[in-house]
Amino acid sequence: MFQAKGFEKVVVDGKEFTLSEEIDLIKTNKHTVEVIIDKISCRHKDLKNDVFQANLRSRLNVAVEQSLNLSDGLVTLRVSGKKSLLFSEKFSCPNCNISLPEIEPRMFSFNSPIGACEKCHGIGMIYKVDPSLLLNPNLSINEGGVIPFNRFFFHETWYIRLLKKMAQEEGIDLNTAIKNLTQREINLLLYGTGNVYQVLGKNRFGKTTVIYERFDGLINELERRYFESSNEQVSEIQKYMKEVVCDSCGGKRLKKEVLSITIDGLNIATICNKSVKELKDYYQNQFFQKINPYEKIIAMPIVKEILNRLNFLDSVGLSYLTISRTAKTLSGGEAQRIRLASQIGSGLTGVLYVLDEPSIGLHPKDISALINSLFKLRDLGNTLLVVEHDEETIKAADHLIELGPKAGKDGGRVVFEGDLSAIKKSNCLTGLFLSGKEKIDFEKRP
Ligand SMILES: [Zn+2]
Ligand SMILES: [Zn+2]
Repeated sequence: MFQAKGFEKVVVDGKEFTLSEEIDLIKTNKHTVEVIIDKISCRHKDLKNDVFQANLRSRLNVAVEQSLNLSDGLVTLRVSGKKSLLFSEKFSCPNCNISLPEIEPRMFSFNSPIGACEKCHGIGMIYKVDPSLLLNPNLSINEGGVIPFNRFFFHETWYIRLLKKMAQEEGIDLNTAIKNLTQREINLLLYGTGNVYQVLGKNRFGKTTVIYERFDGLINELERRYFESSNEQVSEIQKYMKEVVCDSCGGKRLKKEVLSITIDGLNIATICNKSVKELKDYYQNQFFQKINPYEKIIAMPIVKEILNRLNFLDSVGLSYLTISRTAKTLSGGEAQRIRLASQIGSGLTGVLYVLDEPSIGLHPKDISALINSLFKLRDLGNTLLVVEHDEETIKAADHLIELGPKAGKDGGRVVFEGDLSAIKKSNCLTGLFLSGKEKIDFEKRP
């Protein structure tokens, strides 16, 4: 068949043959058959010749295309003296039996089942039974020393019968306090014996029956029940568990296949663990030095979008945050400024924003950056109503309203309304401080 197509040489299970010779193939065995499509040799100086390069390119084109057609999407490249390289058109490797779906954005999200780690479902943490919470060292097994099952010991469930039978056969004394058992005996209890035991008991009709059951240990039993149980039992079992980093994804929340997709050697988890400041520096400077001109054309518009968003976060004073920071670990001020940053990015107009002390917790040098981003929102055609005590922010406002004269039930009336120069001439509290007629006496403050 290959000969008819004009090929001369094949490689069977790594050994080269000419097609005119007889090749012994054992029909019942699996063989790897490769066809040699083209052999190319060239010298270094040939590559500098434009004509040679153009010819080489078209010759390689033909060879690769032919190979893809013959093998349904695979090409092997053998460089003499080096390991051969296998390329696939279909994101799959026949040697490792791995195949990836078409790469698309939602693969990189731990909120999508396509991207999320299958073990922790994209949480990054899993519940595991903590052995130190299972046993009461001062009690024997019969006295209820196996804490999760102590209530059931008097009911004689199938699991308790199995545990007792196991103990009997392995020589574990049910009446010895757990602290006096050997480490081997405790390990058998916790991690199982792997043996099958014959357990006698009565079924629900009162008839004596025999079951054969393997003892996998308390930890496996509880974890199995945890994943199969209803909500009520889950919270009962959770008492014996602690949250640990998922051992499948290492807390990175994504599938291994997704994490193996890298640009400049970095996967999305590594990128997200960098701060806004580090990433700005990376995408502005280092990144473009590492890619070739062709890649640059592809990357340019994407990097522009990334830098846009990083700049939003930077402009509201959040350059120290890592992209992977979870929302629940942010302070109120940080969360508000992130929403602000995303609003600047949205480009909406005609919106009224109400902000409650956006400067709170900010370093003074970041306040002017924050005010600049408030200006940006205003200039897009929005109205911002800002509740604020910060002097710099007050001075930046187009229009000021003071509610007072004092706090709580002694206030609530509009005592001033106007612009900055007007408030400085007024006798309201803010006006007196802004004009310098009143000063905060730090000595007098409690
Ligand atoms: Zn492979
Ligand atoms: Zn995981």
